[in-house]
Amino acid sequence: MWRLQDFNARQVRLGPELEPGLPTVTPLDAGDVEVVNALELAELADDPVQLWVCPCGNVGCEPGGWACFRRAGERVLLLPAFSTMLKGDDDFHLTEYRPPAYIAKRGVPYIEMRDYRSLVSLDLGFPPATVIKPLCVAEAIRVMQWEAPMRLLDRFPDAPGCERDVMLAAEGLDLDDALDRVDEFLARHLDDPRPLAPLESSEEVSPLTFYIDMRDPCEWTAFGLCEDGLVVLLDGAILMRATDES
Ligand SMILES: [Zn+2]
Repeated sequence: MWRLQDFNARQVRLGPELEPGLPTVTPLDAGDVEVVNALELAELADDPVQLWVCPCGNVGCEPGGWACFRRAGERVLLLPAFSTMLKGDDDFHLTEYRPPAYIAKRGVPYIEMRDYRSLVSLDLGFPPATVIKPLCVAEAIRVMQWEAPMRLLDRFPDAPGCERDVMLAAEGLDLDDALDRVDEFLARHLDDPRPLAPLESSEEVSPLTFYIDMRDPCEWTAFGLCEDGLVVLLDGAILMRATDES
């Protein structure tokens, strides 16, 4: 997960050819990332929202550029539109509702809540944080899958499951036991619409780290262990409980 910051709205003329008569529109940048290509055209309160709108001004005219805003703790995440992409039996929705390139290539970005509130106060069309849906368990699992290195949880849109062949060891648990628990968690919560709940500050969580056998060996941590089971650990900074499982 990576942070979007240093937001900057600059007015440019619409369209690559700078045709006379086309209206002036305002892209929203965050550093070197063009988050929204035309604030005047994007319907930022939509869910999912097309962040990159065709220069003709019609949402949905061009495929791609879609995302969903979700709240998770003190962050607003920009998720791929997972549930919309999963609709239908063919690849139409997968292609049509794919995320913008900066999410497809770099993973799921987030905006710190204080930065998001500043964006809302600028009256650019961003919905207040209070009306943004909280991240649900099913979405958190898809975020994990999207972010996992080397397709460790298989590849969206397939159902996520551990690639056991490359997992060498787990810290704090027997490897097979750890993999069983993760696979069981993924299967049980894959369609879980309940929001993730913040952990109690008193709860002790130890990261469940897997060691991965690749040409360049690496570690992967997406869950934590607490007294009564697994908890979702997104980016190390968002610790949240998926359920009261045993
Ligand atoms: Zn168009």
